[in-house]
Amino acid sequence: MKVRNPRTGEYDYDLMEDATELIAEKAEETRAAQKAWRNLTIGERVAVLQKWLGSFTEFQTEIAEQLAIDTARKRIAAVETGGIIGLMQAWSYRAPQLYNPPAERPSASATTVQIRQQWVPYSLVGVISPWNFPLLLALIDTIPALLAGCGVLLKPSEVTPRFMDGLEKSIAAVPELAAVLKLVRGGAEAGKAVVNSVDAICFTGSVPTGKKIGAVCAERFIPAFLELGGKDPAIVLKDADMEVTTDAILRSCVGATGQACQSLERIYVAETIHDQFVNEITAKAETVTMTINPEEGQMGPLIFQAQAEKIQEQIDDALSKGAKLYTGGKVEDINGGLWCRPTVLTNVTHDMKVMTEETFGPVIPIMAFKTEEEALHLANDSIYGLSASVFSKNNDKAIEIASQLEVGAVSINDGSLTNKVYDAEKNSFKESGINGSRMGDAGFLRFFRKKAILIQTALPEKMADFEESSF
Ligand code: NAD
Repeated sequence: MKVRNPRTGEYDYDLMEDATELIAEKAEETRAAQKAWRNLTIGERVAVLQKWLGSFTEFQTEIAEQLAIDTARKRIAAVETGGIIGLMQAWSYRAPQLYNPPAERPSASATTVQIRQQWVPYSLVGVISPWNFPLLLALIDTIPALLAGCGVLLKPSEVTPRFMDGLEKSIAAVPELAAVLKLVRGGAEAGKAVVNSVDAICFTGSVPTGKKIGAVCAERFIPAFLELGGKDPAIVLKDADMEVTTDAILRSCVGATGQACQSLERIYVAETIHDQFVNEITAKAETVTMTINPEEGQMGPLIFQAQAEKIQEQIDDALSKGAKLYTGGKVEDINGGLWCRPTVLTNVTHDMKVMTEETFGPVIPIMAFKTEEEALHLANDSIYGLSASVFSKNNDKAIEIASQLEVGAVSINDGSLTNKVYDAEKNSFKESGINGSRMGDAGFLRFFRKKAILIQTALPEKMADFEESSF
């Protein structure tokens, strides 16, 4: 597969796609190696993870450089690699505390029976990840799955595959780990082969792909942990601090060029402060600089060409239906890269794609509301339910509004806090996902099935005990 460079538009990297047979072989090998891996103590698995932390650190610069080409972002690439080290450390500390099958105990319902509870990890977990934070989203589920004792087949996105070269070296340096963690290269076909060869799936990606994978997993009767798209709303109440709110919303909408699942994508502002809000956020949006010279600037090009087309289509759709453009509005080709300046739109409605479909770009559509009920109705009028924000100087009021939002996480007086906070459990609501939380303790505990060993300590019942005439 030829891979496009998001900064130059050139197809300058060849990705060798794994054949289906090779993926099946990798699955079989990993499954075989997992038998010994799951029999290690949690402490022994942590020791292997610590070795990986060492080799990952050794290759960190190389991985960050490859990731920077994949995503055309230097600073975020460095944050991503640093974040992985943080994740490895955090799970090394937390997983042994959490691995705590209860001690043997007598049953309360059958008092002669002793219960021994075992936690059995899935043998082989498939992790399939997207292109927007290629390294982080490849490893966020992989690390706790490995510590739980699972083997992992990991297939990152074919759009941003360069970092896999460095990552693979860091894995190969730890043979005990390499036996139970295998990378798979390729696109949808490789992803399908992964889904068909594992015992559980952790998928991060779009709703349409998530639905396809969910259907296959249902057919195969294996769990699918799906982390999908979003259309996160922000509600700005009339008492919100204008300075703080416009700063946070701008950053959340256009940070990482809007290519984050938890980017704010719909802004509902109290009517009385709407005009001031629009003017202030537009002024700030116009100061955002682009990294056309990769050594400076705040916002990079769009990574995925198909997404760039969608962004333009949504802006055009809104403008054709009466939206008003304050700034931005065009995806431009600059030196082969596709760039979109922060785009502020008003006069938008829920008849426009920009208010109902995931944009995944630096677009800030703003709508005024009269009452809190109206704001809540608009915010909840979505097929998505990933996360949201509420801005107000009154925390109690903000929390009251937050409690009525049909989403898995709400940031108060900030945007996208879920990209920083890893220890708060959250489920995705509606079409944004399904099954156990990847964040918090559940991010580790969800990889175990509970098994009961039931030990009879008295004489078992006999058929004679069921004699009707002796009743
Ligand atoms: P995508 O669904 O197109 O692809 C994701 C992955 O699935 C890729 O690795 C791809 O090769 C693979 N794939 C494609 N078809 C497949 C199939 N039929 N079977 C198995 N695998 C298949 O998503 P994308 O465009 O790479 O990523 C962007 C999306 O990811 C956005 O919708 C974004 O919101 C979402 N996302 C969600 C979260 C979250 O935590 N909820 C985080 C980041 C991104």
